[in-house]
Amino acid sequence: MSRLWSPLVRSLIPYVPGEQPAQRDVIKLNTNENPYGPSSKALAAIRAETSDSLRLYPDPDAGVLKAALAECHGIAPAQVFVGNGSDEVLAHVFNGLLQHDEPILFPDITYSFYPVYCALFQIPFETVPLSANFEIDLADYQCANGGIILANPNAPTGRAIAKNAIAQFLLGNTGSVVIIDEAYVAFGAQSATELVDRFDNLLVVRTLSKSHGLAGLRVGYAFGHPVLIEALERVKNSFNSYPLDRLAIAGAVAAIEDREYFEATRRKIITTRKRLTSRLEALDFEVLPSAANFVFTAHRTCAAAVLAKALRDRAILVRHFDQPRTENYLRITVGTNDEVDALGDALTEILA
Ligand SMILES: *Cc1c(COP(=O)(O)O)cnc(C)c1O
Repeated sequence: MSRLWSPLVRSLIPYVPGEQPAQRDVIKLNTNENPYGPSSKALAAIRAETSDSLRLYPDPDAGVLKAALAECHGIAPAQVFVGNGSDEVLAHVFNGLLQHDEPILFPDITYSFYPVYCALFQIPFETVPLSANFEIDLADYQCANGGIILANPNAPTGRAIAKNAIAQFLLGNTGSVVIIDEAYVAFGAQSATELVDRFDNLLVVRTLSKSHGLAGLRVGYAFGHPVLIEALERVKNSFNSYPLDRLAIAGAVAAIEDREYFEATRRKIITTRKRLTSRLEALDFEVLPSAANFVFTAHRTCAAAVLAKALRDRAILVRHFDQPRTENYLRITVGTNDEVDALGDALTEILA
């Protein structure tokens, strides 16, 4: 029946998300979910919204959520866009801001959804190799381009670039949009948010999925100049005018307002990242410095594919990207202390 498909669909190679096992008693360190889950205030707000109000469409503009984000980040509501997960926000970004004649640029090793969106929206792109130690060198992006997208911290490496370096780069790149995907910024990198007042071609994309333990609620957002936001609103209102449902809007607002819970859980994750790093280093792993809620690590002698398989046999999931340059690395999510200890024990056994 594929003869009925639109021609473009035949050439699509969709993104493959990390596995979500049906089995419950798995230690899941493969998709960078937050082990602490959402704030109880967010859950209470979602419960309160679970009522007859679901008969009604949500606010198409999610005004209360934009106001909460603007307040939390010290910007204006007109500088805020919201969507159904940052994956959807990114789709609108690729569609609405990155379709130009010149190719867009992103690193050879980064979030693997970017090339998928380029194929879907038929956007030419070029990848820029990370340095030998997996760092982004912004000087490599100082050339004609139709736009640039960088994850900061980068995935799956966990390495971050400094806000000053981004500001410096933006001074020399004024003719195209620069997207900074800050999915993991809560765990130690510097946000570029305060630069959106200075640079009208900067868009910062964020999500509650990892930072606020709400991957299941699907709430993402973007900060930028009102003219960039307007482009995203035009695309969104030509696609789905009600992307965020009532439960998502209520839960997201409460999660953002519960600063105390956010601070406490992100600190715990940063502390456990150190524990995970020392444990791995003691077992002869090289661990890249991480500003995210995962580490990118390679064992000095044992192949990553072998380790991933042996861990899976022990009901521990980690992510292995079987591609040139990353084939020897595992990306391991920072779980709870107990989960990290179980991983350390399993690796000790496997390597013995
Ligand atoms: C997880 C992730 C996203 C998508 O997050 P959602 O908001 O859950 O769609 C976007 N970018 C990067 C780099 C990510 O790792």
